[in-house]
Amino acid sequence: MYIPSRVCWRHLRQILRQSCLRNLSSTTQDVPHVCIVGSGPAGFYTAQQILKGHPGAKVDIVEKLPVPFGLVRFGVAPDHPEVKNVINTFTTTARNERCTFMGNVHVGKDVSIEELQRAYTAVVLAYGADDDRTLAIKGEDNPNVISARSFVGWFNGLPQDKGLKVDLDAENVVILGQGNVALDVARILLTPISILKKTDISQHALEALSRSRVRKVYLVGRRGPLQVAFTIKELREMIKLPDCRPVIHKEDVSCLKQVIADLPRPRKRLTDLLYKTALEPSDTDTRLWAQAAKEWELRFKLTPAEVMEREGKVTGVKFYINQLQGDDLVNKVAIATSETEEIECGLVFRSIGYKSIPIDPNLPFDERKGIILNQKGRVQDRPGLYCSGWVSTGPVGVILNTMTEGFETGKRILKDIEEGVVSSEGKPGSQAIREKLQSAGKQIVSFSDWDKIDLEEIQRGTPIGKPREKIVDIEEMLQVAHS
Ligand code: FAD
Repeated sequence: MYIPSRVCWRHLRQILRQSCLRNLSSTTQDVPHVCIVGSGPAGFYTAQQILKGHPGAKVDIVEKLPVPFGLVRFGVAPDHPEVKNVINTFTTTARNERCTFMGNVHVGKDVSIEELQRAYTAVVLAYGADDDRTLAIKGEDNPNVISARSFVGWFNGLPQDKGLKVDLDAENVVILGQGNVALDVARILLTPISILKKTDISQHALEALSRSRVRKVYLVGRRGPLQVAFTIKELREMIKLPDCRPVIHKEDVSCLKQVIADLPRPRKRLTDLLYKTALEPSDTDTRLWAQAAKEWELRFKLTPAEVMEREGKVTGVKFYINQLQGDDLVNKVAIATSETEEIECGLVFRSIGYKSIPIDPNLPFDERKGIILNQKGRVQDRPGLYCSGWVSTGPVGVILNTMTEGFETGKRILKDIEEGVVSSEGKPGSQAIREKLQSAGKQIVSFSDWDKIDLEEIQRGTPIGKPREKIVDIEEMLQVAHS
């Protein structure tokens, strides 16, 4: 080979060095390959951090459904399309050449955590909260006592909830709980169909809601107005709901006037809005509310005692009346008295919180809190195993909180890789897992397969003026994905 000058020697050395580095980073020993279980916000934000923080790291996102995005697709209300914009960021992550989406793979059934740990440098459990808390009261098993989680899944097209039977032939509804999910349920029940039909709400829900007789929704909490868990944006939406009147009793909030100034900021604004809605509404609002056909009402200091039934039909909920105890203005405990009160209704929603479940019997799990036992995302006594999102923190907080937590978990994994706490040595990566799944006949859905489902849904929605019509059947999703 003819090498004419010293500059060329330097150039050659540089090329050789780069080529050696490339070879080094392409051996499985040196390239971290992380598996993330769950494709909700926690999964995607953790993946984003790992891909950004390590130039060679690869990430596989394993999801039990054929479609990605977790509660952003199946939880966030259809009339909140702006919240779903995070999907654009997740899509950018999924399209990164070092990221692979593997949908329709149920960890704990199709493949175990142990198998994943044998294959990957690190495994992150970001599988959210798939169960809900129950009340353990008489009458709770009546078919018209419905978990808010299932109802949300039903109107959002979650395959497992498509067949939910909701009898909307009732004027009064009681929602047990005063968080944002309770408000989402109330809003969907009370929003005019003309608005809902322009959203991506599932067609089966739209049809049932268009026949609904619901006129009044009670939102019932165990504690007082200073303890409500919903936030101001959601409350404001409820107050501005067309053709609907808020009922906030003056006697519940009038005493708050003197404490509002001392409250921490988000609670202060929220309490001020509750107070003003009850005691100082504008003339326009007063006029509009007087003409409204529907209403929602906040009820406080009531603990559900029993769901009342007659001939199998729900007739109401009996409550114990509570007293609040505790010196702190906000952190009060509800103590039930022997006094009771009944609210008549034909339909009850239980909205008292989501709950995670262990997907493996050997997972260190806190059954009471419904979370994987962990120290800042590192699963207790399981090196190389991490958790992120609701399964790690409990089912609280919005996407922004999940994002912060996902980024932190991603950074900790990279630190552990850098410090040699976890290693890629002897970890073959996804190949072994794919072989196992394929030999079991499992149809894995890739991100480009999801693109086909996405396109099909958008095309189905367009002629009926909806952003998309979700496919609610898993077999049909798979057919479209592999068409
Ligand atoms: P998830 O979003 O639940 O994702 C978990 C994923 O793991 C899912 O895709 C699930 O299918 C998958 N999975 C489960 N088990 C397995 C398994 N065994 N194998 C493989 N995959 C599995 N936040 C906002 O900021 N704005 C809102 O308007 C808003 N609305 C909400 C409405 C409702 C009804 C709810 C419940 C929450 C809402 N949130 C909202 C909160 C937000 O959805 C959560 O903060 C966030 O989704 C939690 O993310 P996650 O990834 O931990 O869980």
